[in-house]
Amino acid sequence: MSKRNCIICSKPLNNGIIINGRGICKKCEEKIVRCNIETDFYEYYKNCIRKNLTADLLKGEDLVCQDYRY
Ligand SMILES: [Zn+2]
Repeated sequence: MSKRNCIICSKPLNNGIIINGRGICKKCEEKIVRCNIETDFYEYYKNCIRKNLTADLLKGEDLVCQDYRY
């Protein structure tokens, strides 16, 4: 019964991909796919995952990442 939210934009996950139990919505996925790995977005994305994983380990608390702007 766990409702998934996108770990990047924190919106409810209606469709998208799950990586290691982390949800990423379609929009964010498309951004990632479109970006190459040298971009800021990729760095940001990695930070989001890292923060979310850490938050889960510590408290199970959801960590909200700020809106990313190009
Ligand atoms: Zn998203």
